[in-house]
Amino acid sequence: MSKERIDQILIIVPTNRKLRKLKKQLIDSVPGKSVSGINMETITTLTGKLLSVSHGFSDLSEFTAVVLLEEITKKNDFEYFASYKNAIPFGTLIALKDVLSEYKRSGISPSMLMEEAQKLSGAEKKKAKDIANIYQQFVHKCNELKSYDVGDIYSGVLSLEDESFIQSFKKIYEQVECVVAFGFDEFSSPEVAIFDRISGIVSDNLFIHFDYYDYNSFIFDHLNKSYDRLIAKGFRRIKDISPDESNRFLIHLRKNLFKRKIKKNSDFKDSIFLIDAPTRRKEVEYIAKEVKQLLSSGKAEPHEICIAFNLIGGYRDLVKYQFELAGIPVNITDRINLDQTSPIAAIINLWEIQNEDYYYKDIIRASVNGFLTFKEIHITDLMNVSRALKITGGKNNWKSKIAYELENSFNDEVFKISRDSLQKARKTIETFESLLAPFEKPLTHSEFINETKALIEKTGLVENIINKSSDNIESNVKAITVFIESMEEVFSLLSRNEGNIRHNFNYYLEKVKTLSKAARFNVKEKSDYGILVTNVEEIRGLKFKYLFIGGMIDKEFPLTYSPEIFVSGDYIKGERNHLTEQRYKFYRALSTWKNGLYFSYPERNDKNEFVKSSFLDDFEKAFDVTKIGNEKFENIIISKYEAQKHFEHLADDELKDIVSKSDFCDYDFLLKLREINGKKSNGVIIPEFNGLLLSNEIEKENNLSQKFIELLDEFKNNIYSVSQLETYAKCPFKFFIERILNVEVYEEPTEDIAAREFGGIIHEILFEFYSKIDEQNLVLSNCSDEVFNKSVELIFEIAQEKLDKPQFDDAGAFYEKEKLLGLRGNKEDSILYKFLEEERKDSDFTPKLFEYQFGMKDDFGVISEPITIGDIKLRGKIDRIEIDKDHRNFNIVDYKMGNPDSYKKNIEEGLSLQLPIYAYAIENDLEMNPHELIIYSLKYDKKKFGRKVVVEPGNVKETINNSIEFVKEYVDKISQGYFPLSQLPDREKKVCVYCKLSSLCRVKENNL
Ligand code: SF4
Repeated sequence: MSKERIDQILIIVPTNRKLRKLKKQLIDSVPGKSVSGINMETITTLTGKLLSVSHGFSDLSEFTAVVLLEEITKKNDFEYFASYKNAIPFGTLIALKDVLSEYKRSGISPSMLMEEAQKLSGAEKKKAKDIANIYQQFVHKCNELKSYDVGDIYSGVLSLEDESFIQSFKKIYEQVECVVAFGFDEFSSPEVAIFDRISGIVSDNLFIHFDYYDYNSFIFDHLNKSYDRLIAKGFRRIKDISPDESNRFLIHLRKNLFKRKIKKNSDFKDSIFLIDAPTRRKEVEYIAKEVKQLLSSGKAEPHEICIAFNLIGGYRDLVKYQFELAGIPVNITDRINLDQTSPIAAIINLWEIQNEDYYYKDIIRASVNGFLTFKEIHITDLMNVSRALKITGGKNNWKSKIAYELENSFNDEVFKISRDSLQKARKTIETFESLLAPFEKPLTHSEFINETKALIEKTGLVENIINKSSDNIESNVKAITVFIESMEEVFSLLSRNEGNIRHNFNYYLEKVKTLSKAARFNVKEKSDYGILVTNVEEIRGLKFKYLFIGGMIDKEFPLTYSPEIFVSGDYIKGERNHLTEQRYKFYRALSTWKNGLYFSYPERNDKNEFVKSSFLDDFEKAFDVTKIGNEKFENIIISKYEAQKHFEHLADDELKDIVSKSDFCDYDFLLKLREINGKKSNGVIIPEFNGLLLSNEIEKENNLSQKFIELLDEFKNNIYSVSQLETYAKCPFKFFIERILNVEVYEEPTEDIAAREFGGIIHEILFEFYSKIDEQNLVLSNCSDEVFNKSVELIFEIAQEKLDKPQFDDAGAFYEKEKLLGLRGNKEDSILYKFLEEERKDSDFTPKLFEYQFGMKDDFGVISEPITIGDIKLRGKIDRIEIDKDHRNFNIVDYKMGNPDSYKKNIEEGLSLQLPIYAYAIENDLEMNPHELIIYSLKYDKKKFGRKVVVEPGNVKETINNSIEFVKEYVDKISQGYFPLSQLPDREKKVCVYCKLSSLCRVKENNL
């Protein structure tokens, strides 16, 4: 083929990838590497060009087809599809679209389907008739919109008069005298008819390279029809006798693969390898190691290696991860669904805020994705407000509850939410409201597209992709382009019929979600870049020096047959045909290697053992292969991660050797790590690994930052809250994370009143109640019915007022309110009534002081005097102090919502400090003696409710002294920087089980 005559040939190949590769090969093979006038097409581009000469049409994309089918199937004139009460699931729509496209490509018309349906009965008949009907409407719709897929184009081309067909061809390929097609598998009837017509134009100078062999029906059976069609059209057969090396392999393969009685060939044993790996992860790791060796030995350039899978989905991320670790560039060509890209997910999330009426999770998702910039949002404040005010959604709900709180509370102790947070949360909602406002009213198609573009601009989506994302920039930008183009395509097509009708937001969101699921795109392949990782389907007709076929397990290669649910009667291909197609796919993949072929498979996953592919067994009957596995790969280290993982098992020399050969290991770091792990496994206590952060040696050795040392120093002079020290007592590590590092664990908002908040409301009610009866000089102990009834009225009035807030209107708060105010409206069956009954009992003590604070800020920001133990300053708030004036005694009472049983023991063990330290705090102020320490359970539970003395008279002084010693010990350890994980013998049950830091701490590791 000379450079001068290249324009006389038209080359037709099956895929765009093949087209690009071949074009490049051709250009590279020409002296000067420049050539013009190459006529190279896929059959789709060829027929599209031929038809477009005489017909105006646009290509029907996959997503438009799905959106159109969704519209058609929504109509209620179907029998079988009527069973889908709501919308047809997306997967079903895709399956339907694929089947109808294939019908079109194969020249099967709706009327042929209807005829076939008449032969069936029962549900099958209903289904077949529905599909024929849908197909009919689909074809009609496509013609009406002049939006064609490949099958429509075929039938358009074939319907051209001879004269018109010839003119179209000559107009585009004026110089072409010879047509060559290669790389194809099957040919549908319309395709054969098209080739036949072209052949007539070029005086029978049309050659099709068709990989077909009469004597191996296991592989070629399904191609008989294509072969017969070509022969029937008068094509003549010419045998391929090219003598190259790969042909020797192919000839044996073609003749023997999948047959029973065959002669095994050993000629390629040194070039064909079988990798058996324990898991998929290992499989990919082993492939990466082998590839790394091929590259470092200079046997191949990255682009000369291909890794192919029949089902690439389960391998994509593993390959990306493993090859990135190994520093090997890969070119993963899987098509990306729009809805799986981060920018499109970000826009859809933003719209979901409106669709789901400001549901808090949608707000978080839209706010944290990193691709959208908002004018003013304060997500932490919004979440705090949502938790405090029990808001999970509803734009008006957010606005009204925040407004109410801003108007009615100035320093709300129960919810601990500041005005600043409330204002910031309101601002956040307003930001989203203003962004989404254009979508609140009905829009025409073009208005919706324009508003979407404006939204993309306002949120800085494109700039953020370019500036913020380090990888995937190209695919993310492409995703935005495809997204806009897809919307324009779908909505402009729909507008052709509908005109400028306005639709509400739900209509658009539904369509956009459907098209985002259906629209897929490829990022432009970088020429000669990286290892090609792709689907076996995509490599037909290509050649690589080294080919890896991974995932060689049954159910994946060959793929399990799943009956074609939307294909009926004679058009069903059946299991046998499916298996032959899979075998042919395997055979075609095996035609693409030159120097080395690798198969690999995993033995199992977490749950199941896999079965090695039967195709591999068949292959091994035909060819000798070299097996490789663990023993070869486990000692090859290709990444820093692996070096760190394996270094412990290596001798110093080996370790040094690895480090010297690689650019990814730090020898000193590995040695240090080994030393630490060795000590740990021998039970040696390593201070910093056991929670001791400060000591001169450790500071020096670990380079603790000055800032951190200062932070700890500052903490030593803090006013400690007694409950903080209780946290330290239970788990010093938790104290360190929460109090020193100030890490907050995000808690989901809930419409239920959580126990802690419910407890806060009761505290408030009791405080207000006692303040009022004190003002009125009412005493409850041994009181008259009149006083009691008055108290009942008062306490319920206070409670009602406290609970009369928007955040308690939700259904989730209902039961908690009932427990407080009376189940089924029965006051007597309530916590408050039980409380009053308890208070009425005879006692020498009168409740006198409530919510008594020391060392804390009051409502005006003034800090009261803390109490001191030596240099230690402490703060706290005592729920209630009861006085017996006559005997100069007092009791300390702590209200609890939970079970009071464990307090006595906890006080003895230094885990509960509040009661004794509170008693110590006020005994001097009151100049009285502590008498009893009491837990007052407000739990709605007959047996637990009421006062429980946890330290009896006579034991209080000693208990106070013990607790003081515990406080000294804890503060001393804090100042030494000692923050180990909880040291309690039963920590799992006692503290870890409720701890939100368990995923952060290493409690499950041994020796800690
Ligand atoms: S899980 Fe247990 S050990 Fe870890 S921080 Fe929480 S309480 Fe401490």
